[in-house]
Amino acid sequence: METSLLNQLTENQSDLIEKINALKKKKNAIILGHFYQRPEVQEVSDFIGDSLALAQKAVNTSADIILMAGVHFMAETVKLLNPDKKVLIPCTDAGCSLADSCKATDLKKFIDENPGHTVISYVNTTNEIKALSDIICTSSNAVQIVNSLPADEKIIFGPDRNLGTFVSKQTGRQMLLWNGACHVHRRFSAARIAELKSKYPAALVLAHPECQADVLDISDFVGSTAAILNYVKNSDCKQFIISTEPGILHQMQKSNPEKQFIPAPPDDATMSCNECEYMKMITLENIYQALLNENPEVNVDAKIRDAALRPVQRMLEISSKLGI
Ligand code: SF4
Repeated sequence: METSLLNQLTENQSDLIEKINALKKKKNAIILGHFYQRPEVQEVSDFIGDSLALAQKAVNTSADIILMAGVHFMAETVKLLNPDKKVLIPCTDAGCSLADSCKATDLKKFIDENPGHTVISYVNTTNEIKALSDIICTSSNAVQIVNSLPADEKIIFGPDRNLGTFVSKQTGRQMLLWNGACHVHRRFSAARIAELKSKYPAALVLAHPECQADVLDISDFVGSTAAILNYVKNSDCKQFIISTEPGILHQMQKSNPEKQFIPAPPDDATMSCNECEYMKMITLENIYQALLNENPEVNVDAKIRDAALRPVQRMLEISSKLGI
């Protein structure tokens, strides 16, 4: 484990990490952790990645138990791909405002009102939404997924309108967009980032495509968490303003100790940083309890499993074909 983090861990946290590692070994369990998790949770994870990498990793694991250190829809996707494995989520309240912004009955109505469209849904959705979709995408592959369809194909894209607008601009395709958003990325403020930029004029601004269009317009690079990490690694610049959930700074700082990362502020001046409270619900304590008790377990409704799995598999096939 990274020395600086090791020094900051409390005795209780070090003790929990030891116990979690022992349980993982005993139960042949792995922990898949998202980039937005707490630093100590990332450190206890066997694999850290964005939604696409986590889904790809989930397909290839030989573990008997998979614990998702992320939010609920991620655990649901893992269970879809691994029906015979035990999938655990340490906190069932770890939801997602973006997934919540699209209800199955509303999407079904929208699809019925707009027949003849291919439905592309972002992975940040419930299995009910996936079951209504033709292809799933993540922010790492959304542009390529859209480009893989014939130019005259009519597309419904949801639920994130900001990602949809970005993909539309990148591909030159008109799409019907669902009007959903992530409450974390929506509240980054172009005005406050511009203020920060005047304080750090040499810094490059890097943003996630779930941010509003005015934030993306003033950014030097727009990409998924994995793409942002890659950009930072390959850039000669030494200072970056990061417009995505600040959990990602842990991996950035670890891989690039000589560079400086400044988290972009939210529009609310009373907030010091822009964290996703759902991601932060996962703690060492609830990971330990979940592994110990093998609970809470995530299950998928058998009635929708096949329909929800098909568009996820289609995404993985396209990604694999394109080498993403
Ligand atoms: S950061 Fe936004 S999209 Fe990601 S889990 Fe939190 S609410 Fe959902």
